Amino acid sequence: MAQPIPMKDYSDKSFWLATYGSYTPNPPLEGELKVDTAIIGGGFTGLSTAYHLKKFEPSLRVAVLESEVVGYGASGRNGGFSMTLFGLEPAVTKALFGQQRTGEAHRYMERAVDYVDQLIKEHNIQSDYWFPGFFRVATTPGYVKRIQHDLELLTSMGISGIEWIDADQVRSEVNSPLFLGAWWEPRCGLLNPAKQVRELKRIAQDYGALVYENSPVEEIKRERQFILTTPLGKITADKLVFATNAYSHLIPLLRSKQIPAFTHMVITEPLQEEHLQSIGWKNRQGIEDARNLVHYFRLTVDNRLAMGGSDVSIAYGRDMDKDKNPTTFQTLERDVRLLFPALKDIQFTHRWGGPVSVPVDMAPAIGYLGDQRAIYSVGCVGHGVAMTHLNGWTIADLILERKTDLTDIWFVNRRIIPWPPEPLRLAASHLIRGYMRIEDRLYERNLPASN
Ligand SMILES: Cc1cc2nc3c(=O)[nH]c(=O)nc-3n(C[C@H](O)[C@H](O)[C@H](O)COP(=O)(O)OP(=O)(O)OC[C@H]3O[C@@H](n4cnc5c(N)ncnc54)[C@H](O)[C@@H]3O)c2cc1C
Repeated sequence: MAQPIPMKDYSDKSFWLATYGSYTPNPPLEGELKVDTAIIGGGFTGLSTAYHLKKFEPSLRVAVLESEVVGYGASGRNGGFSMTLFGLEPAVTKALFGQQRTGEAHRYMERAVDYVDQLIKEHNIQSDYWFPGFFRVATTPGYVKRIQHDLELLTSMGISGIEWIDADQVRSEVNSPLFLGAWWEPRCGLLNPAKQVRELKRIAQDYGALVYENSPVEEIKRERQFILTTPLGKITADKLVFATNAYSHLIPLLRSKQIPAFTHMVITEPLQEEHLQSIGWKNRQGIEDARNLVHYFRLTVDNRLAMGGSDVSIAYGRDMDKDKNPTTFQTLERDVRLLFPALKDIQFTHRWGGPVSVPVDMAPAIGYLGDQRAIYSVGCVGHGVAMTHLNGWTIADLILERKTDLTDIWFVNRRIIPWPPEPLRLAASHLIRGYMRIEDRLYERNLPASN
């Protein structure tokens, strides 16, 4: 029987992991094991899939293999916004996939946000969760137009529940001199992602799923069954789920489906009463702006301000070592102070980053790989917290060969444009990021400082 191995230090991977408290990972896979379904990846997607499989078919043998610890990937590092945005933004989704699909995607995301709320209540998940709603704020007149255009688009599809509010209204909630108006959407939750993902591990295990940590899958053989090899063990499985998100290009079978882009976050010391008096924010909503290279910001339970986004880092080939970007950290800290001048002397205590999964067309995809025995999920971009929880249900339906409204959604088994091999991949991703940066600068040419 394998013993738990000593916990490595993951405190530089996120504020949430650094402040999680004591955590004992499960022992690694050791020896040989036979299961019905093996799942590679211990993030929201993998654990939600394991939970749903066991809930729907308790007799199934299900094992999750995580190369580090549960929550090592984006699921333990993100901003914690459970929100309805799909892909980049509605106008981009419409341009690429059409109006009807944009509406369907939005409804899927609404269901996902509601489902996170339901799961948390049903299983008494302890993840510092609250449901404060969401502002997508405009900080320049150009962004006012962009947001209003997105809103008109969603309204024309019969989507309700989001409204435009003017500068006075948004500033009466959160007082930044830069806010010119906002998309106000009551449907948005905020949570502590490291707690959430480890609570998902708890409920998946309560239903009987096996979770192995420190168990990187190093080899996958596809024969009559799948044979997965880890450093100390081997699993034979009838079906296989790749819940490997932004790490998927490291697996030869998934090489061209997505690439990682690294987004970064900073967090302040706890704000003092006078700071809170000055910026308001008593209802503690989640906030994003309308840039391509978006900023996202929120308060934590202990009144820190966390901000992420701005520029993204791009990696070459198999490189996944882009968690730290001092220039982006500096920009984020500057932007906190620009948005909230009352915080000009605030100190920042943690800085981190993590990979999001980016297909060429910036939209999520779930699909069969080769035949119906293997399923992958990639491409939530920066908007995967809610989506991955519901995707776990969708993937479980696919594994169980159940045709449901979830499996009928258009991004299941959609065509994915392949990323080219390196060095073209790097050139293409620089081009896309370069375009996004230029557009952001044009939208922000009259701001006091922009990057
Ligand atoms: C800094 C940051 C901020 C974000 N903020 C938000 C936000 O506020 N709201 C939002 O909706 N989305 C946000 N996102 C995106 C969101 O976090 C992700 O879409 C979501 O967590 C993806 O979950 P996942 O389970 O698919 O992937 P991950 O959590 O990345 O899990 C994949 C796991 O697979 C494991 N793995 C990979 N290869 C192997 C292997 N060979 N063997 C075993 N295990 C393997 C990895 O170690 C990893 O733990 C953010 C992302 C980042 C990085």
